[in-house]
Amino acid sequence: RPAARGGRNTELPEHLKCYKGVWVFVEHDRGHVNPVSWELMGEARKLADKLGVEVSGVVMGGPDETLDAFAKEAYAYGADHCYIMRDPVLKGYRNEPFTKGLTDLVNKYQPEILLLGATTMGRDLAGSVATTLGTGLTADCTELNIDGRALAATRPTFGGSLLCTIMTLAYRPQMATVRPRVMRMPRRDDTRTGDIIEMALGMVETDIVTKLLSFIPDAERNTINLAYADIIVSGGKGLKNADNFKLVWELARVLGAEVGATRAAVQAGWAENERQVGQTGKTVRPRLYIAAGISGAIQHRVGMEGADVIVAINTDPNAPIFDFAHYGIVGNAMQVLPVLTQAFRTH
Ligand code: FAD
Repeated sequence: RPAARGGRNTELPEHLKCYKGVWVFVEHDRGHVNPVSWELMGEARKLADKLGVEVSGVVMGGPDETLDAFAKEAYAYGADHCYIMRDPVLKGYRNEPFTKGLTDLVNKYQPEILLLGATTMGRDLAGSVATTLGTGLTADCTELNIDGRALAATRPTFGGSLLCTIMTLAYRPQMATVRPRVMRMPRRDDTRTGDIIEMALGMVETDIVTKLLSFIPDAERNTINLAYADIIVSGGKGLKNADNFKLVWELARVLGAEVGATRAAVQAGWAENERQVGQTGKTVRPRLYIAAGISGAIQHRVGMEGADVIVAINTDPNAPIFDFAHYGIVGNAMQVLPVLTQAFRTH
């Protein structure tokens, strides 16, 4: 099916020109859609409007799951159609049945673009679907655009020091994964409706090697909701030690905020891995991001520059973070943080 292997192919072969429309894989877990799917739906709408095509959501799951309700939500966030696949073997994510289901849908209905969240599930599924289809996949994108009729997917490279734009010119569908919170959540419009196309999976339990025995949520990790926090107080290496890092916690507690950290602070053991913000951590988009003792390295910046308001506290007036912070406090974080905590406590 691929146009050709090896060499440089820039022409879309005739047999792939019929691929039309932008699809979003709607990821859900225990009754809730992952918000990244709706962020992608908003982005899919923009891409589809530029191409003059329609947007579809793909909803897969068990027969007793609320797939029709998810489809309704998909319309509210911008979908025109929904492809639904329900089957007992699709209850709870497993790679094999989901790969087969999504691959079959793509082969039958032929979308030109397929977007998935760069979540644990989305990353696993996108890779195997792209491999099975023999098409291109750009992972962990930070920007999506249309160039001519092709998807131009931008992502950081060389440790975040460069941004590269990747185009899959000679293959369809063009696939991309995007991390939660990179794209803005679109406005919900519950008056929008659409049609549903159902397709059967054609797979039975004995076809599948992986068995889902039980699901045990990680209670502690689940309480850290950095990506969707409204306010984040983050600490970096400038805090010098674990004891001083507690000042970040104190301010966060008073503000009802989550605590974030740089990789340097995580590596020093002052905060859990799940709190790392940046290229190899979480992407966040809070209303307020307070950065204490953080230099503003590009790998940290890419994870937090989408915040509405950034306040930086740093002793060095030339620290890179002051180039993109909205408010800067040149000062010692160990003195400034307690003052802020006290001030907010009394208000
Ligand atoms: P530093 O860069 O050491 O900065 C400390 C700052 O504190 C300085 O600006 C200093 O002036 C200031 N300071 C010192 N004393 C005080 C004081 N008393 N009060 C106030 N300020 C003070 N980093 C991430 O954060 N997230 C990532 O996801 C990430 N991924 C990476 C991926 C790769 C492939 C690579 C190569 C690097 C990655 N990094 C990441 C690391 C990144 O390059 C930086 O090293 C890191 O962000 C620096 O952390 P920092 O700002 O805490 O420390």
